[in-house]
Amino acid sequence: MSCHRPEAATIAGNATDGRDHNPFAAMQPRAPASTPADLKNGARVKTNNVAPQGVYLPNYNRLTPHMRSPEYVQMSTAAAITLGIMRGQMYRCSCTRCLNLLLTYPEGCRANCAYCGLARHREAERDYADRNFIRVDWPAVPLDTTIDIVARDAAKSTFHRMCISMITHPRSDADTVSVLKKWTDRIDPSTIPVSILSNPTSMTRDDVKRLRDLGADIFTVALDAATPEIFDRTRGKGVQSPHSWKKYWEILMDAREIFGPQKFGAHIIVGMGETEHDVLSLVQRLVDLGGHSHMFCFFPEKGSLMDHLPATPRDQWRRVQLGRYLIDYGGARVEQMTFDGEGRVTDFGIARGELDEVIDAGVAFRTSGCPGKFAEDISACDRPYGDSPPSNIASFPFQPNKRDIGKIRRQLRIVEGKH
Ligand code: SF4
Repeated sequence: MSCHRPEAATIAGNATDGRDHNPFAAMQPRAPASTPADLKNGARVKTNNVAPQGVYLPNYNRLTPHMRSPEYVQMSTAAAITLGIMRGQMYRCSCTRCLNLLLTYPEGCRANCAYCGLARHREAERDYADRNFIRVDWPAVPLDTTIDIVARDAAKSTFHRMCISMITHPRSDADTVSVLKKWTDRIDPSTIPVSILSNPTSMTRDDVKRLRDLGADIFTVALDAATPEIFDRTRGKGVQSPHSWKKYWEILMDAREIFGPQKFGAHIIVGMGETEHDVLSLVQRLVDLGGHSHMFCFFPEKGSLMDHLPATPRDQWRRVQLGRYLIDYGGARVEQMTFDGEGRVTDFGIARGELDEVIDAGVAFRTSGCPGKFAEDISACDRPYGDSPPSNIASFPFQPNKRDIGKIRRQLRIVEGKH
């Protein structure tokens, strides 16, 4: 299997009408359709009640087995290839450094986030375990099998980090604890540190504490939206989804206190209608709080409520990637940067030679997320092609080479030696 597959979405440097950014007015999600009562809550899977037999690879021509966490978890195609559970090769990557374990239930995620392939509105169309998420399939694997493979020689594992991805489900909090306990019983968290991608909607401060006490290293909150308006439109009332900006910030602030500096962070998707000034101001706020931002480039996930909208133009994305890196790791501040009337960065506020060095180093354009074992600013979470096809990479899952940097410079419109 190859990650290289044709895409219909618009990804070029400019959106369809020649814009170099995705403005708020253009990024309205579709309204979710209603689901027939007999297909709600994973009814098809529960009625068929097919017993799972080992690893399940998403297959729309077979009845989906009845699988539940904590016995089962799903993992990205990249993680399954790295573990040897699936055959395949990835474009310019030999493996992934992060083992993302996604909780799984026939009822699926009960939220309805507009950009997400796992959202509830898809339940009539596709069973949860068969849904595409960040552009790839997520095989379901018994947790014990997964732990057995990694525990054989955890010190030599290619994984630099494991991450438990919670979803919105009544069992999610308790099962996250069970998965974490089972993992840390066999694998020392100082050998492979564990991150939690949380679901604040169902969590309390005590849940956050409990995960820290059980050995989790980093706690992240997927704000995803950069402003309260976009949050509400894409994950709240706008799409009949239960999340609230206020609750997400409450849990983020709990994580700040409980996990401490550099041990908490927030996910942000760029290009859903915020300005570059909005997103870089949020990055600054997180840094000032002692945390980090983990960035994703908006990509219209097939089957989501935003699959008709343009991917983030590369100009906008590269400016934000660069600005974010300078704030997170380069000591720059958003107040030093200059923005135009539409909130686009026109100057990063640092000397040209310094800017050139950061661009040429290339790290700013790699995936961002919790750190691995190479360096503080190199994420273990490399998510190969989770936010773009390999033909026009948004977040590089590897070190960009000279040719890649040349392309990045053209996208930024910052040619070598000139501004
Ligand atoms: S809560 Fe997470 S998994 Fe569920 S729909 Fe929203 S983004 Fe997707």
